[in-house]
Amino acid sequence: MLLGELTVSVARLKGAGPAAVRDLGKLGITTVAQLLEHLPRDHVNRRDEVTLRQALASGRAANTVARIVVHSHFGPPHRPTLKLHIIDREGTPAELPCFNRPFLEKTWPLNAWVWIYGIPEAKYGSLQIAAFELDLPPPGHEPGAPLGAGGTLVPLYPLAGTLNQTGVARLVAQAWHDYVPEPLEDELPPEYTALHHLYPLDRALRILHRPESPQVLAEARRTWIHRELFHLQTAVLRRPNALKAAGRVAQVLPKTVRKHFIERLPFALTPDQATVVAEIDADLESERPMARLLQGDVGSGKTLVAFLSALPLIEAGHQCALMAPTELLALQHAENAAKLLDPLGVKIAFLSGNLKAAGRNLLLKELAEGRIDFVVGTHALFSEGVEFQSLRYVVIDEQHRFGVIQRQALTRKGSDPDLLLMSATPIPRTLALTAFGDLRTSVIRTMPLGRKPIVTHTNKMSNQAKVYDFVRKELESGRQAYFVYPLIEASEALDLKDAASMAEHLAEVFPGHRVGLIHSRLEDDDKRSVMEDFSRGRVSVLVATSVVEVGVDVANATCMVIEHAERFGLSALHQLRGRVGRSDLQSYCFLVYGENLTEDGKTRIRVMMETTDGFRIAEEDLKLRGPGDIAGMKQSGFLKLKAADLGRDLDILIGCREYLTTLLARDPGFMEPGQSNLRKLWSKCPPFSDELVALQP
Ligand code: ADP
Ligand code: MG
Repeated sequence: MLLGELTVSVARLKGAGPAAVRDLGKLGITTVAQLLEHLPRDHVNRRDEVTLRQALASGRAANTVARIVVHSHFGPPHRPTLKLHIIDREGTPAELPCFNRPFLEKTWPLNAWVWIYGIPEAKYGSLQIAAFELDLPPPGHEPGAPLGAGGTLVPLYPLAGTLNQTGVARLVAQAWHDYVPEPLEDELPPEYTALHHLYPLDRALRILHRPESPQVLAEARRTWIHRELFHLQTAVLRRPNALKAAGRVAQVLPKTVRKHFIERLPFALTPDQATVVAEIDADLESERPMARLLQGDVGSGKTLVAFLSALPLIEAGHQCALMAPTELLALQHAENAAKLLDPLGVKIAFLSGNLKAAGRNLLLKELAEGRIDFVVGTHALFSEGVEFQSLRYVVIDEQHRFGVIQRQALTRKGSDPDLLLMSATPIPRTLALTAFGDLRTSVIRTMPLGRKPIVTHTNKMSNQAKVYDFVRKELESGRQAYFVYPLIEASEALDLKDAASMAEHLAEVFPGHRVGLIHSRLEDDDKRSVMEDFSRGRVSVLVATSVVEVGVDVANATCMVIEHAERFGLSALHQLRGRVGRSDLQSYCFLVYGENLTEDGKTRIRVMMETTDGFRIAEEDLKLRGPGDIAGMKQSGFLKLKAADLGRDLDILIGCREYLTTLLARDPGFMEPGQSNLRKLWSKCPPFSDELVALQP
């Protein structure tokens, strides 16, 4: 039996009640195979007790039993947050804030004895445990007694709803017992397993749930990583369209409209812009659909490249779509396009999720009939009902903001359309190769002429008067400024400045200058009019949240003040800073930080001071965040990697790729005797869905 063949429903397991089945469903688990592949995210040794007092003294996680003594609530009355108050068996009290987990009130009633695991911190005058595990005490535990023998390493599973650790562990054990009478079959070629000294699959999986020791656990984990990456690479390398041409005829595209367009531009293209446009031209004119990533730092002029490359296709009678991650950015692109392309006779349209029915219907009709040449929009572009007459070119701006599935959904609206992904966030090459097959890259390195490097300052919050004075001088000389805050409105739970209150305050700080406010909760029309006021210069100070992070382009703005800068991620900070320095005016960025900086917060601010190079910043970001969620793969859950991490396990990945490249060249159908496991696996229960196999980047 192969693991993937265990398609029997978890509802058949003894002890799986309707609530458990529903909550497992939330974790994406409906079959026994999926349950067995639900790997613990950690293990704890429940035998070695660490009481709250000991934990606090040593900085380690507490691992003990405690009693629930009070339920209380804090935060805004309409959305209260539950707090569990516990006292451990030594009498030490602690508080557990349960953010977004109100149901814990029912799960853990007053006076219940619980097992608790988590690092306590002395804060707000008491002990707080922000990230914790709660479960029933070990079986047979006497209330108030020390933890004692609780067995070996106990798994900590990702949970949902009312599931608890003991319950999930029991179901996993039940599944092994009832449905795996004989060891699960291996999947990888014996030759590969031997080469890398991997465990047999059955052994590895059992250990991952219930390891006897940390050493075997590490080995089992290594086996599982090999398995995942091996299957992933198999899927990618066997992709039918990986090498084949798509049967399109090469053609030379007309370029008259583009010539007119360039003549009307108030500036010359940068050399890199010209090179990239030529690279794209060659792809668009070839017989294979293009898949290209355009990397260029913030402000390097990628939008213009998108327009320029689309023009020959439009002139030849095709339709093009440009998708942006936010309403605000899409709108700005649409207005830009209207300004630049309308005079050339290009029919432009704007499509967002908020379009009223009448306008939307007309627009959809015109799109389907091919009367619109160039449509700009948000993810609404690939919603149902949107049809094109001949969608030939898809441009995705700030592509890292979209998941793979979303990008795919848009390309499906055409038949093998050419695809241009634009981003200021570089994708590591190996990731590009893995997730996207053979994605080609173009890079814009040169900035438009006359740009001056942005001057970046850091300031403590207590010192912000100096920043305001500086900004005032810029405003007096006719320039504009952004002020960015982490919150829209004041929050009781977080002691942070917010955009709404600061907009009022800044109006007093800068009398005689108009202050505008923009954030995601505004109505679209309001967003639009605030942005227009700012870009026309009617508003001098724009107070915002990170909605202005991507794309917003107002050349006269020279000051970017980010308050609570420590709360923003590196790529957000870089993008925000990129909102200024968009002309030949000298521009400034102020990173204003609060008192309690975390180590990561410090590092991010230091990196921002050291460099304005987007590529360097992306690398540092990768180090801080881990590469998992680059390339929008994590949020789509699409690669289904449980143990492997594309960044960390790069060497294994490259090894798999090399092994498989040789193997597939020799034996593409896995017909050799040593490959019978693989053959059976891919014919009976392919570990990656067609989604991936058919993946256009
Ligand atoms: P990004 O690469 O961050 O998307 P944009 O496309 O928003 O950059 O361009 C930033 C600004 O630079 C825009 O105002 C655009 O009009 C301007 N720009 C683009 N190309 C040039 C150029 N070759 N010379 C001068 N300004 C340019
Ligand atoms: Mg842009």
